[in-house]
Amino acid sequence: MVQVIEWTNPGEDEIIWRYPNEVIKWGAQLIVHEYEVAIFMRDGKVYDVFGPGRHTLTTQNLPLLYKLVGGSNSPFKATVIFVSMKQFQGRYGGETQTRELAPVKYYGVYWFKVSDPVLFLTEVVGGQSLYDTQDVTKFIRAYFNEGMMKHLSAYSIVDLFQNLDMVSTQVKVKLMEDFRRLGLELVDVKIEGVNTTDEWRQRLFWIMQTGNAQAVMQMDTAKQVAAELGKSEGAAIGAGMMIMPQLLQQPAQPAQPTQPYAGGGAPPAGYQGAQPAGAAQPNQEICPYCGKPIPPGARFCPYCGHEIKRCPNGHIVPEGAKFCPVCGAKIE
Ligand SMILES: [Zn+2]
Ligand SMILES: [Zn+2]
Repeated sequence: MVQVIEWTNPGEDEIIWRYPNEVIKWGAQLIVHEYEVAIFMRDGKVYDVFGPGRHTLTTQNLPLLYKLVGGSNSPFKATVIFVSMKQFQGRYGGETQTRELAPVKYYGVYWFKVSDPVLFLTEVVGGQSLYDTQDVTKFIRAYFNEGMMKHLSAYSIVDLFQNLDMVSTQVKVKLMEDFRRLGLELVDVKIEGVNTTDEWRQRLFWIMQTGNAQAVMQMDTAKQVAAELGKSEGAAIGAGMMIMPQLLQQPAQPAQPTQPYAGGGAPPAGYQGAQPAGAAQPNQEICPYCGKPIPPGARFCPYCGHEIKRCPNGHIVPEGAKFCPVCGAKIE
């Protein structure tokens, strides 16, 4: 009976499949379907490679293995691995820290496929001794996550929450390079969400409001910032001003001048012409509850639905503040 080596009914998520019999006879029929590659391995090393088609195994089309087994015509030992060249989807999620050591959670989707099956088998399958799809998938997910953690941690929390599009694009490019080293093509990556703790969301809020990340970071907790700013009555933000005057001043670097309101008519309610913008884009407001940028003057956050409290002059004030962090107006 002729030995037939074929990957029958590969599952939707199956990347590789190992032919269970390690003893191969000359003259065996190897059937490789579309979007598949069959590779002969021995001791974790890649030997001969077959593309789609029906192949009769001879000493001619298995030259490397034939040489290895010493030119004998008796059955020989080899591991046949089929690799799917189709595109796969993976979900990821994890935790990392930003440049300022703010804890960040993230999650999303990525799409990948094998682009160089020989490199893939050498690096992942043979290199890690992973011979079934589950192990390979687990390895790829961990590898992706590790890269994601590493690359995201190079950014500041302000970038992550304010410029996520830019961060995604840059991180994607780096992850694609990582994947190429495994013989994989990372087709696309989508970051669906990033989140941080309440404490850091408040801190982020203060950074956005004052444009002075350094001063906010120097305070132990965001609550402390709020408390210092809201301490004295009557004298606006007097006490807060004395304790950390730099917090409410224009940032020193003139890199991003606050743009004057250019539209016709009255400025929108939330427009903060004199706001020390600093790290924030001019005229951009941020939700103190979820950290996402919201439309100027919004009364409710379109992302988390939280009501946005404002001082009489239209500045956003965080939960519990007694005075406006921007103009010092008393909050009822
Ligand atoms: Zn929100
Ligand atoms: Zn105000």
